[in-house]
Amino acid sequence: MPANIIDGKDIAEKILDSVKERVSKLKEKPKLALVLVGNNPASEVYVNFKEKDCLKCGCGCDRYNLPEDIDEIALLDLVTKLNNDPGVHGILVQLPLPKHINENLIMDSILPHKDVDGFTPVNLGNLVNDNNFLEPATARACIALIESVENKIEGKNAVVVGRSSIVGKPVALLLLQKNATATICHSKTKNLKEHTKNADILVVAVGKAGLIKRDMVKEGAVVIDVGISRVNGKIVGDVDFDSVKEVAGFLTPVPGGVGPMTRAMLLDNLLMAYRLKPKM
Ligand code: NDP
Repeated sequence: MPANIIDGKDIAEKILDSVKERVSKLKEKPKLALVLVGNNPASEVYVNFKEKDCLKCGCGCDRYNLPEDIDEIALLDLVTKLNNDPGVHGILVQLPLPKHINENLIMDSILPHKDVDGFTPVNLGNLVNDNNFLEPATARACIALIESVENKIEGKNAVVVGRSSIVGKPVALLLLQKNATATICHSKTKNLKEHTKNADILVVAVGKAGLIKRDMVKEGAVVIDVGISRVNGKIVGDVDFDSVKEVAGFLTPVPGGVGPMTRAMLLDNLLMAYRLKPKM
């Protein structure tokens, strides 16, 4: 039987509506500082979406478009200024940054309670310690999509393909927290299919179009496709959608799955950051 398609756009709209409603009850609006360095077209598109979502939810958004050749010190100075500004509740520095800038250094400079992306070492460390603070938005998105169709993650075999610090590892940690038996696969994994075929829940975050084929997926599995690639001008995921939908139980589309949910979770994180702000 063909898979049920998980409508990430629809679930995301509901989350954004709920954020909007909660924001409308606040005296002061949560404000996001969005920092974009250079002219990477994909990054520009993502930042435009994030700005639009902020405004749609009634949040404030200050956008900083910085030149590609900005030096590291100037960027650190901006982050420090935003850290010290009590009117800014969340800071998002769009990745990737130009090669001459040390991304880890910049991420590390954002105060953990303003880190709406959840990428700072403190927030990632909190995940490892089961002491979650602000969780990476894409990882939250994956869990919410899984939970929209699966009411018991506990005891399930969950396989995450991809081990980046911003997607793969945080997703696996969240699944582990929910008592799944979590396996992480990566480019050096021998016989990927042996692992994926065993997954009740399969999350794929690689960036290789069509990597996961029908014969790699267990019948009835929940499959979450994080990947984004452009093939012949079309956006596609890591999962070979047409063949996998014949075997999976539930499957997210690309576009329209993890992408809109990540944006919604970012706004939810902004609201959380607003609530977590230290009392001055
Ligand atoms: P990275 O490039 O940082 O990580 C990719 C991971 O995939 C690495 O761990 C790599 O392994 C692994 N990998 C590469 N080739 C294979 C292979 N043949 N088999 C198994 N594993 C492999 O990417 P990100 O984690 O940042 O992003 C992953 C994808 O998700 C991208 O397409 C990105 O655009 C998309 N994305 C989508 C978001 C959304 O909102 N929808 C948000 C963030 C990302 P190794 O570590 O060994 O190199």
